[in-house]
Amino acid sequence: MRRDIDSVLYSRERIAERVKELGAAISRDLEAAEADPAEIVLVPILTGSIVFVADLIRHLPQKLRISVISVTSYPGKSMSSRGASLRGAIPGNLGGRHVLIVDDILDSGNTIRLVQSIIQEQEPASIRTCVMLRKRIPSALETEASYVGFDIDDVFVVGYGLDYDDYYRNLPDIVTLRPDAL
Ligand code: 5GP
Ligand code: MG
Repeated sequence: MRRDIDSVLYSRERIAERVKELGAAISRDLEAAEADPAEIVLVPILTGSIVFVADLIRHLPQKLRISVISVTSYPGKSMSSRGASLRGAIPGNLGGRHVLIVDDILDSGNTIRLVQSIIQEQEPASIRTCVMLRKRIPSALETEASYVGFDIDDVFVVGYGLDYDDYYRNLPDIVTLRPDAL
């Protein structure tokens, strides 16, 4: 797996620093809003956000619940979105709650927009969105995201939860792959 790596964009140390900052910003905003109920529901989008959300929640001291949602957009070995579709159950009991959607990367924005619209129907008290990465492309920059870890060029990345054909999620760094690995 290591030999498939082309370059390391963000090391595990740099990621850890940034996740801590994101947690602090989210907590600060909740306190500033005197959020009532002072309780949040995280909605991580499976599968790419699992590593990120596991790190992020340990920087959130608030009372919180996790309610996952599963969306598919990149079937198999494809490297561009085919439009997002929901798989499985919709998280319930979000009415009147402060909801934080968590995803790995914002690209076409189809995934985030789909999840935002599904959650909006339940009339939560607020909806915020947190992504680890956002591509510097119009579709991503135009999609509403409250918290962004890093803005990156329009390249295909893996690691820290992000996959290619379901592999590489366990790489601790965020990396690009050598062309012969794709
Ligand atoms: P969107 O719906 O915004 O186009 O894409 C969001 C989803 O596509 C992400 O949750 C992620 O699963 C996948 N995706 C988008 N860009 C990349 C990328 O550069 N690398 C990987 N591994 N997945 C990506
Ligand atoms: Mg995903």
